[in-house]
Amino acid sequence: MIKNLICVACPLGCPIEVEVDGTQVVSVKGNTCKRGDEYARTEITNPVRSLTTSVKLEGGMHPVVPVKSSGAIPKDKMFQCMEAINSVTIKAPVKIGDVVVENILGLGVDIVATNCDSGK
Ligand code: SF4
Repeated sequence: MIKNLICVACPLGCPIEVEVDGTQVVSVKGNTCKRGDEYARTEITNPVRSLTTSVKLEGGMHPVVPVKSSGAIPKDKMFQCMEAINSVTIKAPVKIGDVVVENILGLGVDIVATNCDSGK
């Protein structure tokens, strides 16, 4: 089976054609650098994404604070991560880089604040 992807490893966005046999990558074509090959193989075998969302904030200027994952998260764990994040409420003050959820789902990735809120 042939799968067509657009490489998102850099802004050039090369179209990549991946030949797949079951879960095995047979060949990668169209990439113009090694990063494209790596991206395509990961996207087929273990797709990952960065996660950006917000967490409920108590006593802040705003009711939520934006957060992101400190690294890539397997795509099939996104829903569980969102459930875990949605169950969290933190208290102001919060600073950029504060760890809001440590080692989410044991994936080795933290959820960190991307904005600050000094509170009311
Ligand atoms: S294959 Fe290389 S040059 Fe093309 S989009 Fe991916 S990273 Fe950029």
